[in-house]
Amino acid sequence: MPDTNINTSALSTPLIDTHCHLDCEPLYTQLDQMLCCARKSGIGGFVVPGVHPDNWPRILQLAAQQPDLHAALGIHPMHVLKADSQCLSRLEELAKHCVAIGEIGIDPDFDPPPDVQVTVFRSQLQIAARLGLPVIIHCRSKFQMTLQIMKEEAIQHVGGIMHAFSGSREMALEFIRLGFCISFSGSLTWPGSKRLRKLACQLPLDAVVLETDAPNMAPQTYKGQINQPTWLMDVFLELCALRSESPGQIANATLANTLRVLPKLCGSVPMQPAARHKSLDTAAVTGGNYEKGRHFGYLGSHHA
Ligand SMILES: [Zn+2]
Repeated sequence: MPDTNINTSALSTPLIDTHCHLDCEPLYTQLDQMLCCARKSGIGGFVVPGVHPDNWPRILQLAAQQPDLHAALGIHPMHVLKADSQCLSRLEELAKHCVAIGEIGIDPDFDPPPDVQVTVFRSQLQIAARLGLPVIIHCRSKFQMTLQIMKEEAIQHVGGIMHAFSGSREMALEFIRLGFCISFSGSLTWPGSKRLRKLACQLPLDAVVLETDAPNMAPQTYKGQINQPTWLMDVFLELCALRSESPGQIANATLANTLRVLPKLCGSVPMQPAARHKSLDTAAVTGGNYEKGRHFGYLGSHHA
C-alpha cells in the first residue's frame, strides 16, 4: 500500500498525466468537473493520445480549449485497418498541432495480427521521424519485435514514452537507451504486479514518468471504477513507497523527464520556481536551451 502519510498537497511540483483518454466516454461528458478535481490535487498537465482517426478532431479541439491539455494523435494497433494512405496523410498534417505521435505499437491481443499491425506502426514511426515528434508506444508482449522496428526506423532521434510498460528490466533498459522514458500506471498498485514494482524501484529515476491511462487501469483503491486523472496521485504514492528518493525528488524528476521526452509541453506547466528542487533542469522547464540527447548520460552513472 502507498505511504498515505505523504502530504501530496504540500508538493510544490505538479505531476503530469502522460496518458489519459479524456476524449473518451464517460470522461468526456464529465470533463470540466474531472479536470477541476485533478488540477486541485496537483496534476499540472494531461496528454491525450489518439486511438482512432474519428476522435482526432475532438482531441485537437480539447487541446485548443485547455492550455494544460495536450494532443497526441495516432492509430492504436487495434484500429490499424482504418489506416489507408489518405488517413496517414491526414495524420501527418494534423500532427503539426501535437506534442507526440501516439498511441501506436504492437499488441497481439488485438486483431489484426502483429504482422499486419507492423506496416501501420512503421508508417506512423516514419511520420514522427519526419516531423521530429516523439512517439507514445503501446506494446504488449512483443517487446523485442517492437524494439527492432523502432531501431530500424531510427526512432532514437525523437524518443518518447513506453506507455503502461509491462516488460522486463532488460527490455526497459533497451528502450531507455533509445531515449525513451518508462511510464507506470495504476497497475503499479495492483496486488499481482510484483514484477512491475520491482522494476519501478530498479530503473534510473530520470527514465520514469507517470500516467493513469484513464478511463482504464484504475489503481487498486478504486479497482473496478472508471479511472480518472486525479488518481495519478495513487501511482505517484506507490512509486514513492517503492523508491529511496524523497517524494519531492520523485515529483521533480518525473516532471523533468516528461518535459525532456515531450519538449512541446515546456512552458505550459504551471511552476512554483522558488520551491523547485535544485536538480531540476531549468532549461527544460522553461523551454529554454534544452539540449536534446543530454539524458543519454545516465545509463553509465546509474547502471555501471
Ligand atoms: Zn491508452
